[in-house]
Amino acid sequence: MTKEINTCKECKSEYYAATSKKENLCPNCAHYLYGQRQCHHTFKEGRCSKCYWNNTFSERVTALIKRNKKKLKSINQSILMATVILIISTPLTIIGLVYIDTTVLSLSKHSFSRNILFFLSVFGVLVSIPFLIKARVYKKRLIKEIPYLRYDWYFSY
Ligand SMILES: [Zn+2]
Ligand SMILES: [Zn+2]
Repeated sequence: MTKEINTCKECKSEYYAATSKKENLCPNCAHYLYGQRQCHHTFKEGRCSKCYWNNTFSERVTALIKRNKKKLKSINQSILMATVILIISTPLTIIGLVYIDTTVLSLSKHSFSRNILFFLSVFGVLVSIPFLIKARVYKKRLIKEIPYLRYDWYFSY
């Protein structure tokens, strides 16, 4: 039985026509460009034995993957930073609430610095919580739009 072979217009690799639903696109390019289900490539002598793709990434697909990885990385960093701020400022706020100087606006040296710290930590909580919620929603949407971001091991180059 011979399988029909087609050439991908994006990466120029040959592939088994039946393995891709997109016309003239190998399953790998169709995956990154259109979200088609990825072939679980199994390489044998430089070619996938399932789809016959030769492991070539076009410049466009490489750039796309890089751009999306960067986006995900920066959102992850923002989430981490906001989490750290929240972790630090929450206990400070609680401590501040318990020990707050009743004369909050007192300018006596001791209570002034303590109150400043309290206001800063309240500010930290108030800013980081909505930021975290927003960032998580954004990340969810990004991953939904670009499902392969979930599978980091697909592009470990
Ligand atoms: Zn291709
Ligand atoms: Zn394959």
